[in-house]
Amino acid sequence: ELKAEGVSKSFGSFRALNDLSLDIGRGEFLTLLGPSGSGKTTFLMILAGFESPTSGRLYGDGVDITAQPAEQRAAGMVFQGYALFPHMSVEKNIAFPLRVRKKPEAEIRTRVGAMIERVGLVGHEKKLPSQLSGGQQQRVALARALVFEPGVLLLDEPFSALDKSLRSAMQAEVKRLHEETGTTFVFVTHDQSEALALSSRVAIFHHGKLLQVGDPRQVYERPASRFVAEFLGEIN
Ligand code: ATP
Repeated sequence: ELKAEGVSKSFGSFRALNDLSLDIGRGEFLTLLGPSGSGKTTFLMILAGFESPTSGRLYGDGVDITAQPAEQRAAGMVFQGYALFPHMSVEKNIAFPLRVRKKPEAEIRTRVGAMIERVGLVGHEKKLPSQLSGGQQQRVALARALVFEPGVLLLDEPFSALDKSLRSAMQAEVKRLHEETGTTFVFVTHDQSEALALSSRVAIFHHGKLLQVGDPRQVYERPASRFVAEFLGEIN
């Protein structure tokens, strides 16, 4: 449903993305892997519409969305650091995207209540973000991103700030949310076991190029190049 065709992005004379083509199917869980500076975040920003490609096209369900601004794209984003509104309760944070879209109050209440249950935050509705643990804050951020049922959810290393046990709890949570909602997830991580556990496909980035895309086991077992083999063997 999302298609990048020959996408390049330059910042001045620096080429952050180089002729990248990729199809992302509806409901898939795609993980972008690659060394620091390989262009993963830039690609996510382009998918979200926060950056426009220097050349190439983007299609959503066959429609050219290259020039479409971020507000018009059906993508919810959860960023690193999860940026909750500190002065708003859990409930209000999650309701925010619906209020902005001027949904009726009764609908907001129902959807926020259902989301709070889904991410296991019943009993925490009135708390402020500062009164929650890191993992709970992350759940609020996920609930806020999913509450308006985006077609695509873009996550840029959402668990990088969490310790190991919280991290695995959140991985399970995200996996379950993915299975339950049918939302397309595009996920950036440095954590290989995370990529293996969650993804239907992984995409390996290097110097702004897409080196290999495929089923995670297949990519791990049959790396297409020496770089992919070394990169996957390196981090863990
Ligand atoms: P990391 O894993 O460290 O987050 P990444 O793979 O997400 O890295 P990007 O953030 O996409 O990499 O950056 C790719 C390259 O583009 C980097 O060399 C970065 O310095 C450069 N870059 C990104 N955004 C800009 C910008 N707004 N202006 C100039 N250069 C930029």
